[in-house]
Amino acid sequence: MNNALTIDVEEWFHVCGVAGYGYGTHPSHVLRNVDRLLECFAAVDVTATFFVLGSVAEALPSLVPAIAAAGHEVASHGFSHTLITALSPAAFRDELRRTNDILSIQSGKRPIGFRAPQWSLSRTVTPWAFEILHDEGFRYDSSCNPLPFVGDRSGSRVPYKIGMAGKSLWEIPPMVTPSMLGNLPTGGGWGFRFFPPRMIERTVQRLNEEGQSAVFYLHPREIDPSGPRLPLSLFRQFVAYGPRTDALQRLVPLMKRFRFTSLGNLVDQWESA
Ligand SMILES: [Zn+2]
Repeated sequence: MNNALTIDVEEWFHVCGVAGYGYGTHPSHVLRNVDRLLECFAAVDVTATFFVLGSVAEALPSLVPAIAAAGHEVASHGFSHTLITALSPAAFRDELRRTNDILSIQSGKRPIGFRAPQWSLSRTVTPWAFEILHDEGFRYDSSCNPLPFVGDRSGSRVPYKIGMAGKSLWEIPPMVTPSMLGNLPTGGGWGFRFFPPRMIERTVQRLNEEGQSAVFYLHPREIDPSGPRLPLSLFRQFVAYGPRTDALQRLVPLMKRFRFTSLGNLVDQWESA
C-alpha cells in the first residue's frame, strides 16, 4: 500500500496573518532545509510531492529545478500565502496562473496538484474554488484537512472525487486520527511532532489495512529547530513551534517502515485501477 509524503515549501516567515517579513529584509532558510530533505529522501528512496509557493519559486529560482531533478512532484501552494477565504474567485485564479507559469517553466511540467495555505479551502466556505482548480488544469486538491478548528471539519478522512457538472477533482485530505475529542492532526504540523509515534504508526497501519493511503505533510521550518521564530501569540507559537523537535527524526522511521510516493503517482494509480 502506497502512502504519500508532502512538503509545503515556504519560508519560516510564511505564517498566515503575519506581515512585515520578506526577502531582502529577512534571511532565507528554505534552500538549505529543502536540500536536507532531498538528501534524506534520496537516502531512503522516497518520492514526495512538494507544494511550492509561487513567490518563493520566483525569488529562489534554483529551488524548483533541484526538486524536479531529484524526481519529485512539483505542485502548487498558491503565490502569496494568502488565505483562500480572503481572495475573490478572480484573485484566486490569478494566484494559480501566476504560480503555474513559474513552476511549469522551472520544473518542465504543469502542476496537477494544489494545497491552500492554512487549510483555507473547503466545500462549505469556498465551494467556488474547486471548479476553478479543475478549469486551471488541476487533477487533485489536498487542502480539506478534517480538523475540529481549521480545515473542513465535517470532511472525509479518506480521498474522494468531487464532481461538478461533468467535471471532477480528487480531494486528498491529510491523515488524522479519530478520537473522542474529534480528529487529531497526526499527519503533520504540531500533531505529528506531539503525539506518540506509536499512535501515528497505528493510524497508518489501520488506514492501509482498509486499503487507504495515509498522507503526511511537513514544512521545511519543522526540520530546523534552531531556525528563526516569529513573535506569535502563545497559542500560535504552540501550533507553529510547540514540540520543537526536528520532524525528520520522526519521519525517517516511518519512511523505512511504510511505502511512500507522491500524490500525483497515487492519483495515476487510482485512475488506472
Ligand atoms: Zn503554507
